[in-house]
Amino acid sequence: MNIPGTDQDLRNALEDVNLPNLLMVLACITGSDEWLDARFQPAPIEAPEGSLFPDDTGRYSDAIAAEIKDAAVRIIGEVRDGKRELAPPPTQERLQRMMTFSTADEVDIGYAAMLMEEMCFSDRDDVWRAPLESAVSEGKTDGFNVLIIGAGMSGLGTAAKLKAAGINFTIIEKNPEVGGTWYENTYPDCGVDTPNHYYSFSFNRNPNWSGYFSKRDELFAYFDSCADEFDVRKHIRFNTEVVSAAYNSDTRQWEVHYRDTDGDHAASFNVVVSAVGQLNRPSRPDIEGLEDFSGDMWHSARWNHDVDLTGKRVGVIGTGCSCVQLLPKTAEAAAHTTVFQRTPHWVAPARDYYRPVEPGQLWALNHIPFYAEFHRARMILVFGDRVWPAVVADPEWEQTDISLNETNHGMREALVEFIKEGLGDKQHYVEHCVPDFPVWGKRLIVDNGWYPTLGREDVDLTTDPIVRVRPEGVETADGTVHELDVLILATGFHTNQFLWPMEIKGQSGRTLESVWGDSANAYKGVSVPDFPNLFCLYGPNTNIVHGGSIIYQVECQIHYVMQCISTMLDKSVDAIDVRAEVNDAYNERVQAISQTLAWGHPNVESWYKNSDGRVINNSPFSLQEYWAVTHDLNLEDYHLQQAGDNEAA
Ligand code: NAP
Repeated sequence: MNIPGTDQDLRNALEDVNLPNLLMVLACITGSDEWLDARFQPAPIEAPEGSLFPDDTGRYSDAIAAEIKDAAVRIIGEVRDGKRELAPPPTQERLQRMMTFSTADEVDIGYAAMLMEEMCFSDRDDVWRAPLESAVSEGKTDGFNVLIIGAGMSGLGTAAKLKAAGINFTIIEKNPEVGGTWYENTYPDCGVDTPNHYYSFSFNRNPNWSGYFSKRDELFAYFDSCADEFDVRKHIRFNTEVVSAAYNSDTRQWEVHYRDTDGDHAASFNVVVSAVGQLNRPSRPDIEGLEDFSGDMWHSARWNHDVDLTGKRVGVIGTGCSCVQLLPKTAEAAAHTTVFQRTPHWVAPARDYYRPVEPGQLWALNHIPFYAEFHRARMILVFGDRVWPAVVADPEWEQTDISLNETNHGMREALVEFIKEGLGDKQHYVEHCVPDFPVWGKRLIVDNGWYPTLGREDVDLTTDPIVRVRPEGVETADGTVHELDVLILATGFHTNQFLWPMEIKGQSGRTLESVWGDSANAYKGVSVPDFPNLFCLYGPNTNIVHGGSIIYQVECQIHYVMQCISTMLDKSVDAIDVRAEVNDAYNERVQAISQTLAWGHPNVESWYKNSDGRVINNSPFSLQEYWAVTHDLNLEDYHLQQAGDNEAA
């Protein structure tokens, strides 16, 4: 890492950095435990009321803060001037101690193992790299071909690893560009609600995010640049859709049919990786008369930039994350807005949602050794599993109809106050804005002015059910016809039909659709019995609700899939097919745990559940648990077929 500038540049940067992180930088650079001395102990992590971010000061006395900064200028300056070598990265045990110290919270050894990889202090790819390197050198990869369906985040991440391993692959992408969700969603104020320094590949961090929660264009640019940095763009067939894939038990290959502007084509692949995501097929509501609407109408994920909302009467159906994000901007432009709400969501205050990354922080992320690593680790803890206990039902808890435990209940009470405050003069909306399910039953939406927007004079919240859409507007059950010029459908996605609308046939000839019905399930979210050599990314029961980056989840899955592929090549396995009983036992466990979590609560009706009330989209695991679940491939979980029909040991 190049450290430019003078001591004064360094000192200026330190005004903006997180001091407990800086302390860990010193402990890492020097390898010395003097920085873990009790007098440097920071205060526990605590966010000021209404803020997303904990304060960065460690709440040190001025004297200790000055001592840390002076030491940092001296020690980092010595590294810059070539007078000091960096100590080796910490061991797992030392990292555990460092994280426990710097967060003033117990970080266990398993967590440290996960962080070692997320911080790139240990290389998680080691486990599959060596066997793949020998397979490549022995020519075993000749003629071996992987299809990745989708060039969004999951597809690009997989391609990066296959490329590095020297394995042939093709990506088929329905859009003309990479980026998936970040290509398709362009609605006003579209952005991420997981901190970016964590919502990015661990193996391709971006130190230059302009904000802590970046907007769509910057996110798209990141994924677009990943395609070039990973050197995978030339492997992508854009504007091409996979129509069907069928497993041929004789050849042990997937026969894939796809369509592009020239027509229909077919090709065979040894392995298919589905990287199509859970949220990429917009769902239009099944409302009578919808197509008869005479004004402009579009789905939030297919924004019509040709229509200027200025001065228009705008209706929005749906009050999920997409609506909450876009509404403050569209309401600003429109003459009048009607929001059609079926169910309210919980919305969390986030005063610092638009906080730009401070100049000194940017400098530190780019130039101070180890700083970006500790910044990421802190984000993982603060915005991830520290929340987990709040989503787990306490068996002793009595108010089970509205909350799960004391913390969860406390959060509920705080959020109800936030609703009342935000609605201003429209207190009669309060009863409509308080969900009847526990906090985190659905994804907790990061606020960007939702309640004050509902509180505007020119915005109406309508909770009467929609009866039909008429050419002139939306009719609700009370008989009112809400006349509109524009109708925006913020109604979510086809989430229960994984891999839809592709037809995927397994070795017995049954389709995934018929096997799953609306109860999709997979082993670890990745493998499906009877569908050998097919791997799902962001598959069933892998979505995160409590907090965390979906990129993290997908990296866990990519790691697992790379072990499967490496096994195939290393052990000359043609077909790897998860055992049905292993999958069944796993999914029984998934369902049992889900019942005890916020999103399994009986009052929750959401896109996470199927028609039987089973949670099929969300992970039942904390981030660290899912990392452990996917970390090591156990070959005994699978039927393995080698050339000549033998089942491998
Ligand atoms: P969503 O959460 O599924 O919300 C859809 C909304 O439409 C819900 O309020 C739903 O009501 C309503 N709806 C659906 N059909 C309806 C009908 N026939 N009549 C009336 N209302 C209807 O979709 P989304 O807001 O697009 O978000 C989907 C997911 O995308 C989120 O959960 C999140 O994971 C992700 N996302 C993330 C961000 C971010 O990171 N900032 C932003 C946007 C989206 P009910 O609640 O009653 O079903």
